[in-house]
Amino acid sequence: MKITSAFDGGNIEVIAADTPSNVRLNIRVDNGSDHYQWFYFRASGVRDQALRMSIDNAGSASFTDGWVDYQAVASYDRQRWFRVPTRYADGTLTIEHTPTGDAVYYAYFAPYSQERHADLIARSLTADGVRLEVLGSTLDGRDIDLLVIDDPPAADAKASPKKPCWIIARQHPGETMAEWLIEGLLARLLDPQDPVARRLRATSVFYIVPCMNPDGAFRGHLRVNAVGANLNREWTLPTLERSPEVLCVRERMAETGVDFFLDVHGDEGLPYNFIAGPDGIPSLTEAMVALENDFQAALRQASPDFQSVHGYPKAAPGEANMTMATNYVAETHGCLSMTLEQPFKDAADTPLPEVGWSPERCQKLGVAILDALYAVHGKLG
Ligand SMILES: [Zn+2]
Repeated sequence: MKITSAFDGGNIEVIAADTPSNVRLNIRVDNGSDHYQWFYFRASGVRDQALRMSIDNAGSASFTDGWVDYQAVASYDRQRWFRVPTRYADGTLTIEHTPTGDAVYYAYFAPYSQERHADLIARSLTADGVRLEVLGSTLDGRDIDLLVIDDPPAADAKASPKKPCWIIARQHPGETMAEWLIEGLLARLLDPQDPVARRLRATSVFYIVPCMNPDGAFRGHLRVNAVGANLNREWTLPTLERSPEVLCVRERMAETGVDFFLDVHGDEGLPYNFIAGPDGIPSLTEAMVALENDFQAALRQASPDFQSVHGYPKAAPGEANMTMATNYVAETHGCLSMTLEQPFKDAADTPLPEVGWSPERCQKLGVAILDALYAVHGKLG
């Protein structure tokens, strides 16, 4: 048998792969940091072999609570991802699976490659009213892609200005569910026959960054960019040398203004979809809190996969971490600004054990986001 991760988004180190029943692996550490948790590799020559693969350094990964009640994903065709028996004990994550094909892929969550990202951008650009702005370059030389969705005004349009709505995803590159969600959201937003999308597009300009961290994504990182910067801790002082991804997005936001901001993530530990608001920022108002509550209520109505019971503890007044995107944007632009977290595991209130939280479910939550945005849209800005 053979194991490789030498491809887009791959991450694994092989310690021993001589015996199918005793494969020993490590996850490679994100460059320039101590973070690691994302894995993605192919095992070949394994048909009908009872594989027992242990990730020996799982106990020192970034979020070890992420391994509790966690099931790894696998795929033969890289289209359909299913869960395989996985357990965590004594600092080791063990995956047991008997493949029915010659080759099988295993990953922390369904991968979202840079090739798929390129397809998403190219496909989106074939729709009317969509344009691409390349905001800058990453440290590995990749483009930082911004999709701008700005329909020409209707002939009878009133003079009211359009609302700038910003949605970004994958500051943390291993949180691939974030870009899967963007894919579903974009498909609906660009559907010329969807009534909610049409209304939103008539009244808003959308600025969407489907992948904030393409270098980390390609390198198979969990959490940081090419040089080890955690982009969601860079919003107060981004630099060209360390965090150009944040710098160029922040500067473009300053030009457009922001009436709505959503930063899409995944959470390793909690088996829920939930929102974290800009609690604890200096300028937080009751009106901002009320608007966020309205948005969350509308999203619960639009998708039973979303809930507001479980989430992060709220920061006390004045205790917000202002280096995070949601807090920075709320403080700077005074708008509805939220972090959306999706699970790596499953949505515990609405479980589907065979697939867990899956690309298709991410896409459907992206569709529901537009219903929630439509519900509060009149109150933005
Ligand atoms: Zn994150």
